[in-house]
Amino acid sequence: MKASPIEDGAVLVRGGRIVEVGPYRLLKKTFSGKTVDLSDLILLPVLFNLHTHLELSVLRFRLTPSGSFISWVKALIRKRAEFSIEETQKAATQALKELWREGIGIVGDIGNTGLTLPLLRESPFIGIYFREIIDFRGKNELKNFLKGSFPNGRFLYSLSPHTPYTVSPLLIQAIKSWTRRAGLPLSIHVAESPEEILFLKDGSGPIRFLLEERGQWHAGFRAPGLSPVAYLERLGVLDEKTICVHVVQISDQDIETLSRHRVRPCLCPRSNIFLGVGLPPLPKLLRAGLKPCLGTDSLASNDRLSIFAEMEALYHAYPEVSPEIFFLMATLWGAEALGRSDLGGLFPGARAEMLALRSPATGKDLYRSLLENPKKIEVRLYVDL
Ligand SMILES: [Zn+2]
Repeated sequence: MKASPIEDGAVLVRGGRIVEVGPYRLLKKTFSGKTVDLSDLILLPVLFNLHTHLELSVLRFRLTPSGSFISWVKALIRKRAEFSIEETQKAATQALKELWREGIGIVGDIGNTGLTLPLLRESPFIGIYFREIIDFRGKNELKNFLKGSFPNGRFLYSLSPHTPYTVSPLLIQAIKSWTRRAGLPLSIHVAESPEEILFLKDGSGPIRFLLEERGQWHAGFRAPGLSPVAYLERLGVLDEKTICVHVVQISDQDIETLSRHRVRPCLCPRSNIFLGVGLPPLPKLLRAGLKPCLGTDSLASNDRLSIFAEMEALYHAYPEVSPEIFFLMATLWGAEALGRSDLGGLFPGARAEMLALRSPATGKDLYRSLLENPKKIEVRLYVDL
């Protein structure tokens, strides 16, 4: 991902790390160890899905797009309560298998129950778990959310204030100050729906009613009269370790703000399409120097957990964007969002987490060809030969 594709290439691996990458005819001159010949497959780094909620997998195909974001949220809350812990965990286990089949190796999972923690601990994935906090009245103490850990070291444990409209301003700031001290990324849904824009502008609309219905309304809250991005900037929570998920409803000024703070956008286009909220302005984000990563969001607003499908959706929506950008979003830029210099590409020093794809895609314009042609993952390699 840091150089052009190599035809008839070879990757030299030692102790699970990539040592060298180059044309086979050059690497074979000095190499005498064991070789695996993948013939005419295409070798890629594993993909990043940095925004999903595996604990919602049980809702797959159970919610329909209603045309109203808040109706969908209400249906989600209602439906979710119908399932047992066992059913929820079983669906999440299936979802993890699906992520694996889709070539995803690095996962950013969000959860407000902790139900997926034991599953992630046992899984072969690398990534981060964001404990999601929903508390508009700001009643909870932060220490109540700091109970997870990953003894195997492959996952980080961090926090995620759900949205600017479901967490109190003080609590959002407290969460950011904790993740900042810990040197961890923070993830937050930002500027997803028009309802969010309206609520932060003047405190009205369906979100106000929803908060009241849920007993979450805070009488002391004064709407900031700002866009979600401007509001988060004022709270002081935007920086290069803040992952802003969705960023659909944003102005040029918001894009400038995100860029100035070197924020990491995480785009989930197929979820946005499902919910009918529009698409993030990818070309403008790129022109502002932002490096978005990708997520699928949950199976409550998507029918797949495929990062290739997300790349293809954006590619078809924005044909003017260079095809290799979508692959950077799915790999290297995801690694950068997590602050991991050992992931996201096939380069010396990287972990040897690779996919071998079978696809009719070939030739000079390989990235475009891969987006336009069917792909089948033939081999998952995390080599420790
Ligand atoms: Zn989400």
